[in-house]
Amino acid sequence: MVKVVKFGGSSLASAEQFRKVADIIHSDESRRYVVPSAPGKRFSSDTKVTDMLYGCYELAVKGRNFDKEFEAIKERYNSIIDELKIDLDLTEEFNTVKACFIGRAGRDYAASRGEYLNGKVLAAYLGYEFVDPAEIVFFREDGTFDIEPTLAAVSERLKGVERAVIPGFYGSMPNDTIKSFSRGGSDITGSIVAAGVNADLYENWTDVSGFLICDPRIVEDPEPIRTITYKELRELAYMGATVLHEDAIFPVRKAGIPINIKNTNKPGDPGTFIVESTSLKPLYTITGIAGKKGFAVVNIEKDMMNSELGFGRKVLEQFEKNGVSFEHMPSGIDTMSIVVHQNEFGEKEQEILAGIHRNAHPDVIDIETDLSLIAVVGRGMKSERGTAGRIFSALAHAHVNVKMIDQGSSELNIIIGVAERDFERAVSAIYEIFVLQKL
Ligand code: ADP
Ligand code: ASP
Ligand code: MG
Repeated sequence: MVKVVKFGGSSLASAEQFRKVADIIHSDESRRYVVPSAPGKRFSSDTKVTDMLYGCYELAVKGRNFDKEFEAIKERYNSIIDELKIDLDLTEEFNTVKACFIGRAGRDYAASRGEYLNGKVLAAYLGYEFVDPAEIVFFREDGTFDIEPTLAAVSERLKGVERAVIPGFYGSMPNDTIKSFSRGGSDITGSIVAAGVNADLYENWTDVSGFLICDPRIVEDPEPIRTITYKELRELAYMGATVLHEDAIFPVRKAGIPINIKNTNKPGDPGTFIVESTSLKPLYTITGIAGKKGFAVVNIEKDMMNSELGFGRKVLEQFEKNGVSFEHMPSGIDTMSIVVHQNEFGEKEQEILAGIHRNAHPDVIDIETDLSLIAVVGRGMKSERGTAGRIFSALAHAHVNVKMIDQGSSELNIIIGVAERDFERAVSAIYEIFVLQKL
């Protein structure tokens, strides 16, 4: 049995957390490959090392002095090393990083050092081999992740390596410069390593007891989801349930490796199993709720739109030409609505509207902003009648006005658009009706 274990930033934020991590690793000898994040927040007003690095690098690029900020980063690592009495001196490493900042080695390089240095500390603490992902995680010229050569390199490099620490979050470009994934990307590295060594399980250790039915920052103490399918998770992750990076699913899914989300602070809790498919019935009609703010809707009306050949294409072409992708497109007989990210759309708004007017000749175009989208996801919804009805009644009771609804053809999710100011209230109302009232 081989397990790949990824520990998130809060799991490695302090010496005390490092001790918990070591206990977890030592308690199961199949936990052979460890993927650490950079030290995260120790308390809610703390700053993640990744953010400290970005800040420092910004000063370096502006040619400003960043000694004080850099010292604070060194202190984060040194306090862990000192408190745990690890036989490791990072002075040389710090000097190299600082010199590279001055030499403008790039923002991705800067951010990646959080994981790199933490990997050094953890490897020394555990007595495991350190493997730099720059040697085995590859990006293409255009910056996209290159999975095939990566999996081959991971497999080759770790063959015969009994135990290793492989930092998360970054890899290298064809020209050998460092490239990092988007924020939260250590989850992807964990998944890549799991697929590369053909692990039996990918354990993702964080600060919550699994994937919760909804965001704990919105509903107090929501229940964890015991088992969720990759498809459900992808919907939720995409819509902002950021406990696992949305791209972390692909490598393990392809290899049929389940993911178990676990809590470093409560290792005895079962956490959430993420699987390809399951015969386990979900406890509730819905599996989870997630949502995001920051959307705009372009509502287009034209009489007889439904019979006008190519109308939709002419409209969508304008978005494509301007590099704006759309999220959803609910439509009626004479109306269509295009939901877009407000910040992307804002920059190109006038070009797109002019293009639609010129090419599609609509009767009315109207824009609504400050919309949030909520995804209600669940494999159990298909077999239950009236799910949408219950959602609406819950929202009506909570005095939330529904601006849009879109049900995916898979019947796995229902997307609801509400004003941003109603967002939290809407999520709580949906949680209440399906979970607390078990309707
Ligand atoms: P890590 O640093 O371990 O990678 P993250 O901060 O990336 O952890 O993800 C865990 C956090 O995700 C939780 O502390 C929680 O605040 C947030 N979160 C948002 N939605 C959910 C959800 N549905 N279930 C669990 N956690 C969620
Ligand atoms: N340290 C990186 C971040 O803060 C990557 C990660 O934590 O997964 O985004
Ligand atoms: Mg994370």
